[in-house]
Amino acid sequence: MEKYKTSIFNIPFDKEGITYIYNTMSGSLIKLDDASRDAFEQTDFDFTTFDSHLLEKLLCKGFIVKSHIDEMGMLYEKTNEAIYSSFPSAVSYTIVLTNKCNYTCKYCFEAKNKQSNNATIDVDKTVSFILKQIEHNKELKYLRITWFGGEPLIYEDGIDIITGKLLPVLSERRIKYTSSIITNGYLISDQFIDNLEKNQISSIQITLDGMPEVYADYKGTAPGAFDRVLSNIKKICTSKSSCSVGIRLNCDKDNISSIFSLLDYLDASGFFANCNINLAPITGSDGSEFSDAEYEIIQLKFYSYLCDKGYKELVKKKLKKSRLMSCGYVGSGSYIIDVDGTLKKCERYVGMQDKVVGDVILGRYYNSAEREFQLNDILDKCMSCSLYPICRGGCKNSRLSGKEIDCHLQRDNLIKLLNMLV
Ligand code: SF4
Ligand code: SF4
Repeated sequence: MEKYKTSIFNIPFDKEGITYIYNTMSGSLIKLDDASRDAFEQTDFDFTTFDSHLLEKLLCKGFIVKSHIDEMGMLYEKTNEAIYSSFPSAVSYTIVLTNKCNYTCKYCFEAKNKQSNNATIDVDKTVSFILKQIEHNKELKYLRITWFGGEPLIYEDGIDIITGKLLPVLSERRIKYTSSIITNGYLISDQFIDNLEKNQISSIQITLDGMPEVYADYKGTAPGAFDRVLSNIKKICTSKSSCSVGIRLNCDKDNISSIFSLLDYLDASGFFANCNINLAPITGSDGSEFSDAEYEIIQLKFYSYLCDKGYKELVKKKLKKSRLMSCGYVGSGSYIIDVDGTLKKCERYVGMQDKVVGDVILGRYYNSAEREFQLNDILDKCMSCSLYPICRGGCKNSRLSGKEIDCHLQRDNLIKLLNMLV
């Protein structure tokens, strides 16, 4: 007879006398009755005594697993397949169209890395590289491009040219294509909006760092820039295009109060209905950045703010989902194509010469920089962590640069968040 055990990825919590379990691998939540709660509290409970429907449900949602299964081992193997496959079914390229920028953000990591700041990408070599990858990989089903910079809209033509050359080949091979753009939003024109559909751009990410004065200070712009960017966001939201807009709120200790004022403003102006609003920590700045633990608390405050304003559904979507890697670039087939045609594995490496792992002429170098970035190692402290499917040990770049992730609040904060949502 088959035996079962509880999943190592279960997170039990209580609210108003009721016990729930959240499973970080499946993203499922279950409310337990008294009998089931007792069962989950015992280490050696015989789950086959449950009625078959309940047993099936618990198995299907991952709350229990067959007793011989090594859940961590299974995850490890799936990750290996995704990292080391020579013919991945999905590939993604982040293309640095130009390293020119019309802003001078005070926390910009690229400004520190730049060798020269007036370059634009060679579109022909870039297209020829991508076409070679497509031709070589008969298993390819999905291709995703993220347009990046500098400010990518300074070289907007690059998007039209590259997309125009790729789409016929992708269509012929029946490869599904999507693209997105990360822009400061200032240069968004009517023509760009009109071309969203033709260029198959399905999402746009725009960063706002606070109310107008703080925005101008953090971004190095004239005061009118804030209003112009918001007006451009409105234009996209009211256009025929189905492209979604994500507003990213970059925060540190100095601008956080302005970020919460901005949230009030965005709510009052109706942006919550049309945009996906996210908070993100500013890193690598001048000492005003939040520590991991401080940011965890701020993030919880942000979720609580959204719930209080009635946006519970929005917060539900922000629950982290399980993933195979800490970030997509760890996988084979995911690269930054830098403005000089070199390939890198992390957005932070744009402009860095010692992080090159290939180029658009020669392809991959199979060098130690790439091997080191892809290495599927699990830290000792993560081996028995119930958050591992959604965390994966944290950002690979941070780990490689020797920064230890302080995650002692992560589990408690997830439970606090789940408490807000049930
Ligand atoms: S390694 Fe970290 S910083 Fe680099 S792209 Fe991935 S998540 Fe971002
Ligand atoms: S870094 Fe911390 S929270 Fe993330 S998986 Fe490892 S132990 Fe868990």
